[in-house]
Amino acid sequence: MKFDPATNIQDLKQFGEFGDVNPSVTDSATYTFMQAKTMTDTFHGEAEGCFLYSRHWNPSNKYLADALASMEGTEAGWVTASGMGAITTAILGICQSGDHIISSMTTYGGTFAFMNNWLPRYNIEVTFVDITDLESVRKAIKPNTKMIYTEAMTNPLLQISDLPELSKIAKSKDIKLVVDNTFTPMIVAPAKWGADVVVYSLTKFINGKNDCVAGAICASNEFINSLIDVNDGTAMLLGPVLDPMRSSSILKNLHTLHIRMKQHSYNAMYLAEKFKAYGLKFRYPGMPDDPGHETLKKIMHPDFGFGGMIAIDMETVDQANKLMEKMELEDVGYLAVSLGYFKTLFSNSGKSTSSEVPEEIQKKMGLSEGLVRFSVGLDHDIERTWQKIKKSLETL
Ligand SMILES: *Cc1c(COP(=O)(O)O)cnc(C)c1O
Repeated sequence: MKFDPATNIQDLKQFGEFGDVNPSVTDSATYTFMQAKTMTDTFHGEAEGCFLYSRHWNPSNKYLADALASMEGTEAGWVTASGMGAITTAILGICQSGDHIISSMTTYGGTFAFMNNWLPRYNIEVTFVDITDLESVRKAIKPNTKMIYTEAMTNPLLQISDLPELSKIAKSKDIKLVVDNTFTPMIVAPAKWGADVVVYSLTKFINGKNDCVAGAICASNEFINSLIDVNDGTAMLLGPVLDPMRSSSILKNLHTLHIRMKQHSYNAMYLAEKFKAYGLKFRYPGMPDDPGHETLKKIMHPDFGFGGMIAIDMETVDQANKLMEKMELEDVGYLAVSLGYFKTLFSNSGKSTSSEVPEEIQKKMGLSEGLVRFSVGLDHDIERTWQKIKKSLETL
């Protein structure tokens, strides 16, 4: 049977202590015990179903983490206060001083900055490669390489990582494959293609409401337990835990993710076809001539389309800014960073979410200074939206 993340979520039986169909929010930092020994056992991870302290586990966080793990097909999950909280915790949970990481050169700007500016302070070395060039990945491996890090669909260039091939390379050398799946929840299930750890910014498509910042790590029981070990667990000791009120609201939004992803993808495909006919320079992995098209087709779940992200190349910052300001006035959506929202959002990546990447590296990775990243919204009448974009283009 085909792996079906949406049905996995639908089949969850998570209800609260009073039969509440939305699990109760556990609004507690600590938990009481009738027997002192049970507390000691819980501390040592030996009391199934008992909670100790909410930096470690909170029942509301566990509901969301379990739901995300079933969506991804991993044994376990853990939820964090931001996507960066998930990414940094996963990386520091795997690597230590003296280790080496191979990373896609195009990644979210914050991830790039963490790897390029912060990890070297702790003597963790990172080699940035073109992740679609498998030979360059193989060549970058050193005896101390512990991790290959990539995004299933990269931010902001929308390159597609060939996860089955990357997994083969990683497994042959006992290296962990860590995949950020923020752009393609439901569409790609990285763990099914051999990723050891899947990280998310829940802030984007998964929550979809732009009302909070949150993240998640999905992996084996062994890895998640290692992160929350009271003695040396990275998550337990650095403490990037998510607020349980937020877990509860994100869990409800997770249940409509499959419908939203279909509409984001439908609308993005519609716009991409219009962009092509108009003669714009852009990338959308749904277009048959896009360099990532065949790879995405190989790894995607066909029900959810090619995703809601389009990158238009307006060539110069000036043209990009003019277009974005016009589109804001025409109510195409909002000139704002972030993505996966019900409204269309657009921003110039090189000057915003990838501005942490030095200009010469932006050039090297092919990031045009005029790149406008579109996160296409859930618009009911997408032809009307296209007409507004067209009007904006025509009056530049
Ligand atoms: C936004 C984003 C992040 C960071 O997530 P936050 O929730 O903002 O901390 C990481 N990876 C990708 C691909 C993103 O788009």
